[in-house]
Amino acid sequence: MASVATVGEAVARVAYASSDVILSIQPALGADSEFSKHLHTLSSKRAPGIIVKEPEVQLIRHNVDPLLSAFQPLRSGRLVSVTTSSSVLLPSIPHLYKLAQYPIVIHVALHPYGYPDYSEITAIRQCGFVFLQSETLLEGQDMALSAHALAIKSGKGVIHFFDPANSEKDNLISAEDPELLKNVLDANSARNYQSTPTGSPSLYVDEGRLPTIIENGISPTEVGQFSPAVASEATAAPQIKGKNGDESSAGSSIRESSVDSRPSISSASSINSTSMRPVNSEDIQVCLSGIWSQISIATGRTYQAFEYTGPDDADSALFIFGSTGVFVDEILDAQPSDEYAKCGIITARLYRPWIGASLIASVPQSVRRIAVLEQIRKKTVKWGPVLMDILTSLRTGPSALGAPMIVGYQLGYIEPSTASQALRGIFQNLNSPSPIQNLEVGNHHQPRRPLTEYTLEQPKTESAYMKILDQVFGERLYIANRLSATNAGISASIAAKPEFGFGSLLARIEHRKRFIGEVQEAAASREFVTDVPQKWLSKWALSAEDPKKVNGLAPEVIARLSTDGSPLASQLLQSKSLFFEESQWLIGSDAWAYDLGNSGVHHVIASGANVNMLIIDSQPWSERAAADATRRKKDIGLYAMNFGNAYVASVAVYSSYTQVLEAMIEADQFNGPSVVVAYLPYHEENDSPLTVLQETKKAVDLGYWPLYRWSPNNEENGEANFSLDSERIKKELENFLKRDNHLSQLMRRRPDFSANLSGSYGTEVREVQKRRAKDAYDRMLERLYGAPLTILFASDNGNAENLAKRLGNRGKARGLKTMVIAMDDYPLEDLPGEENVVLISSTAGQGEFPQNGRAFWDAIKDNAELDLSTTKYAVFALGDSHYWPRKEDKRFYNKPGKDLDARVAFLGGKRLIDIGLGDDQDPDSYQTGYNEWEPRLWEALNVDKVESLPEEPPPITNEEIKIQSNFLRGTIAEGLEDLSTGAIAASDQQLTKFHGTYMQDDRDLRDERKAQGLEPAYAFMIRCRLNGGVAAPSQWLQMDAISSAYGNETMKLTTRQTFQFHGVVKTKLKSAMRGINKALMTTIAACGDVNRNVMCSTLPTQSAYHRDVHQVSAKISDHLLPSTTAYHEIWLKDDDGKQIKVAGDAIVDHEPLYGPTYLPRKFKITIAIPPHNDTDVYAHDIGLIAIKGKNGRLEGFNILAGGGMGVTHNNKKTYPRTGSMFGYVPTDKAHLVCEKIMLVQRDNGDRKNRKHARLKYTIDDMGVDVFKGKVEELLGYKFEEPRPFEFQSNVDTFGWQRDEFGMNHHTFFIENGRVEDTADFPMKTGLREIAKVHKGEFRLTGNQHLCLSGVHDNDLETIKALMKQYKLDNVQFSGLRLSSSACVAFPTCGLAMAESERYLPELITKLESCLEDNGLRQDSIVMRMTGCPNGCARPWLAEVAFVGKAYGAYNMYLGGGYHGQRLNKLYRSSITEEEILEIMRGLLRRYSVEREMGERFGDWTVRAGFVKATTEGKTFHDGVAEVESDGEA
Ligand code: SF4
Repeated sequence: MASVATVGEAVARVAYASSDVILSIQPALGADSEFSKHLHTLSSKRAPGIIVKEPEVQLIRHNVDPLLSAFQPLRSGRLVSVTTSSSVLLPSIPHLYKLAQYPIVIHVALHPYGYPDYSEITAIRQCGFVFLQSETLLEGQDMALSAHALAIKSGKGVIHFFDPANSEKDNLISAEDPELLKNVLDANSARNYQSTPTGSPSLYVDEGRLPTIIENGISPTEVGQFSPAVASEATAAPQIKGKNGDESSAGSSIRESSVDSRPSISSASSINSTSMRPVNSEDIQVCLSGIWSQISIATGRTYQAFEYTGPDDADSALFIFGSTGVFVDEILDAQPSDEYAKCGIITARLYRPWIGASLIASVPQSVRRIAVLEQIRKKTVKWGPVLMDILTSLRTGPSALGAPMIVGYQLGYIEPSTASQALRGIFQNLNSPSPIQNLEVGNHHQPRRPLTEYTLEQPKTESAYMKILDQVFGERLYIANRLSATNAGISASIAAKPEFGFGSLLARIEHRKRFIGEVQEAAASREFVTDVPQKWLSKWALSAEDPKKVNGLAPEVIARLSTDGSPLASQLLQSKSLFFEESQWLIGSDAWAYDLGNSGVHHVIASGANVNMLIIDSQPWSERAAADATRRKKDIGLYAMNFGNAYVASVAVYSSYTQVLEAMIEADQFNGPSVVVAYLPYHEENDSPLTVLQETKKAVDLGYWPLYRWSPNNEENGEANFSLDSERIKKELENFLKRDNHLSQLMRRRPDFSANLSGSYGTEVREVQKRRAKDAYDRMLERLYGAPLTILFASDNGNAENLAKRLGNRGKARGLKTMVIAMDDYPLEDLPGEENVVLISSTAGQGEFPQNGRAFWDAIKDNAELDLSTTKYAVFALGDSHYWPRKEDKRFYNKPGKDLDARVAFLGGKRLIDIGLGDDQDPDSYQTGYNEWEPRLWEALNVDKVESLPEEPPPITNEEIKIQSNFLRGTIAEGLEDLSTGAIAASDQQLTKFHGTYMQDDRDLRDERKAQGLEPAYAFMIRCRLNGGVAAPSQWLQMDAISSAYGNETMKLTTRQTFQFHGVVKTKLKSAMRGINKALMTTIAACGDVNRNVMCSTLPTQSAYHRDVHQVSAKISDHLLPSTTAYHEIWLKDDDGKQIKVAGDAIVDHEPLYGPTYLPRKFKITIAIPPHNDTDVYAHDIGLIAIKGKNGRLEGFNILAGGGMGVTHNNKKTYPRTGSMFGYVPTDKAHLVCEKIMLVQRDNGDRKNRKHARLKYTIDDMGVDVFKGKVEELLGYKFEEPRPFEFQSNVDTFGWQRDEFGMNHHTFFIENGRVEDTADFPMKTGLREIAKVHKGEFRLTGNQHLCLSGVHDNDLETIKALMKQYKLDNVQFSGLRLSSSACVAFPTCGLAMAESERYLPELITKLESCLEDNGLRQDSIVMRMTGCPNGCARPWLAEVAFVGKAYGAYNMYLGGGYHGQRLNKLYRSSITEEEILEIMRGLLRRYSVEREMGERFGDWTVRAGFVKATTEGKTFHDGVAEVESDGEA
């Protein structure tokens, strides 16, 4: 069936089928070429090729020296084809000469589209390639095949070129015939080539490769034996004699290949009678004829080197080297009266080698005149190259006699409607007695815009660096090669080159010198209206070379000149930017890294001129990029450092914004060349910032892209030249530093870096390998005892791993040689040698394998060759049968375990026992199934009757860890001293939570580090304790400084009104803790099983009342603070360095409220001030609702108890709960009431099951009245009846508000509480600048925003100006965005199942047009997202919520109350973005038309029947929209 529509598609399909590797050269990675979409379709379908099972398609941008990528695969014996536009050919000439000697095929779509320039073909005609041309769609398909067949058979490079517009109106054709391809492509030659790689001596040395032919002393026509064997001219070798002892006709060029030792087809069989010589033109012609005759037999289509179309008795002909389409129809339809009625058309099918004899044969004898039309736009010589070829063939030698007259024309663009007119013009000239040569036909005007642009364009993502330059240098910034700049007569691609930029910068420097002279003259002239300008100009002229002074003076001078009004003043003002000492920059891409040797980069550095270069590298990290030997991309930073005179910095804006700023400022200040190489990796130009961020992190973390700054003059000032700003450096850089002895200097000066420098990436990997070798040795020794049992586990949350380890210990106790190892760490090839194997796997996401079992499964599932017939095995799977509510998803239950069981059996493994299924829904969770499975295993292994087994130590529980910790000390202090790992002991990880810090690891880097054999990138999260979220400006500044110095340069304002820092590595943990305490803040009890930060509504409008309530929050917080002294011992060592004993019994602590085991679980208290429920008072263990007295001041509180959010997906025993009303208490009793509620929970909470340990379960288990009664018993009085109150919303009020004292308060929108600088929004810097001048308070809100509180009218203008400067005054966001909130989740939270904080803003952006369309832009709809059901952003109280289920999949909840009073309910399970958008768009549309006056979205979703209202926590799982079934589907 005809299905192929374009020649690009036809060619792409043939190229894919006929190659090992296809290099798809594209205008941009995200912009398709004629071919790329089709290649992408084939490779994503993993369509099989003819040459190789799965061809590889590599995408390459057109401006990064793309043909360089061909050498490595060609030399490793892979058949390469290239699809490209003609625009890359000229810059690639140096490569083309070498590539011509390889069997490469380059398919070239001539550009510009619609009117291509054939000079790009004629310019490279002598580079040694064979050139084939096609004109129609069908010819495109056939010539593509011919090109590949010829390349494989002859070993020569072939360029197939065509004008894609010429065939755009052709009818659809059928896809290529695979049988024809198989027949025509010479499989033997292809295999020979593939089996013998040549290695890669050097890219820049010509290894003298020449494709050769092996012949039997007779003509190749008879032999037809082509071999892809090559000969080397570089290495002389004995000549091979012909049959009769004659030397071959190839003479001295015949060499035995020393480069290539592969056997040739014929030499293997007839070594004595063959000779080898380079492939020549005649061979190509013969070979091609063979190919074309095969095609002809199969299809009936015939091809020749030159093709003639027209009458046999034509008297004239057109030889067209250009787009033929316009003329063909005209000539074929010519009327007898037309001047061109007896005319034919000749075209070159085989353009090179040019076979003159074929041309002569193709032209009918009757032709007397030939018009040669050449579509060549860049003409460099008088006579066109094709005209010269034809003249040489027809008008020289014996054929010259009686040869037709040849007249050359330049072919411009011909509108189809004017084709006949153009033809008439051509023939009038041709038939005239003395025709004019080189007559132009058409005009060189480009009529149509190209479909695919190969132009230079700055990708949006890269604008980040430009914005920073703008921010840092403002008016002073001058970019010499800015893309948008217009340079008369200079093309954009030339203007973007470093050479051009450098030249224009030098001119600019000269220009300014002249300008200084002009100013000096003006300062002495009397042409100004007043004498004021003269004085300022003199001042300026005196300091013209001093950047600091001159930039200070410039605005003043400009101001004076502007008011003068004289012609001289106006003249000077025309160049006013020259009054500033500019910061001059050249901007480049990594394309500059490929031709460094002779490019402008070298010029700039070598010149020593004071020029700054910003070079943006966009190549993402990958194994291939890291090796990179094949592309020889230069390390510009290293090159510049080696030069010695340049300032060099390596930066990455998505890794460290601060370092980018520092580097740019230092580069500007450095007097000499500066090179800032900046990283911004992307796979496609429209990659999301999240992808760019993740790629950056990988590259920086692995040392592929180290962050550093190098200033060669620093040493003179006694400072180190080199500063390393990331953790790891790569080998080349390390070598450079070592060689220059800078490494040792640096290590001396900065001992804290020494471990990172000496223990670089390479050595770290070696360490891991050594460790593995030792483990293997230990295992080998262990195997000397008992029968073997190998236990492989795949585990995400530790359950499967713990089970495996315990099974291993129990096996050992039974005398087995057990080995326990994660599946991914196990070498799969050893599996057939195992006697007994146990596989234990938990279930992740949508029935997927846990992280550490994925590679194992991927390998085993596709491996059909593993023979496990001598292996006995058993499988135990862990999962949750209720995890997937939809019936059709039930198959995911324990899927990894079941898949393993089936696969091992398929590979021949013998089941020891049936698979065991552990189900979280069973009474004892997965243990229920396990307890039944394990004895059967021992029985099957014949070790069930072993007696006197040692007693197993009980598993260590959190309760035991607390008891044994000596009041939260554990071995934290010792762990901090251990620099061999970034982690701390597992039990200490539980204890540090009480100190306000968690150990985490960067999950963006987890897989990559694991693949490298490195431990996870451990770092700590630190959470402060901040009563009611109120901080002084000085504290804000301290927090800002701590985040930059010790964390990841960002601060998180949390949903519980405090500061959180992420990415603090172990070695910086103590310093960060001390910094926080220096700011008179603490972290104690910010996490852990204690009462945490006490929250309080922000309330900017009533400051006195707020102060009353805030004081109570502080009182409760202080009252419930743990008393352990361990915190101070561990983190706050005496300043004089005096050691304090940190462990042992020397210090005896006492916890009057908590006791040694503290609380069963975390405990949270919050206060809300009606009508604002901005702290979600129903969501916490204790909620206090402030009650205002008649005097407007605080009177007391209504007390709620038993709220809580944490849930486990689909475990109905867990649920969120809103607090139950206990009653009213006066203000002075509030802290005691909180204490007593906490004590009842302390003594009655569940300490066995942490999932059931929160107060909400204790209250539900005991009953509200019983629990309340116990509290009242401890209090000695009863709660009063609750006082009336009314909440109106649980979101913040943004913008400026005024309080009763006339003070001003402004609530900023801080999206999801992340305070950071980006190129678009330097929020952190702005807030820092405000903190420097602010005299009031910073109030953190429970919705993760920030209120600048207490701004006096006198300061308002200053504050507003700063807000404007840093874009902080913008609160004009959609109501949905303003009411949204997300937890941290990836990359730091260990519990995250899906993205949250990094994703919610993107999701909202995608919904905003729909809000707009439905008139809902201003409507507040509370939308929350969390990465897991732990619920940190309190999703269960939102009107619409998304809770992570697996990466990219969320459960959706609807129906929460607008002011946080009602829980929502599950609406859809495990939905992806596409589904979310579809559902949300539908809901929003309906809500906009169906809502009643004032009806909130959450209420409407209940009324409209999408979900049932959740009346209390216990009914959260009832009546969900998707009915769960108990049975397995
Ligand atoms: S809700 Fe879950 S994913 Fe989000 S921060 Fe809390 S624990 Fe992490």
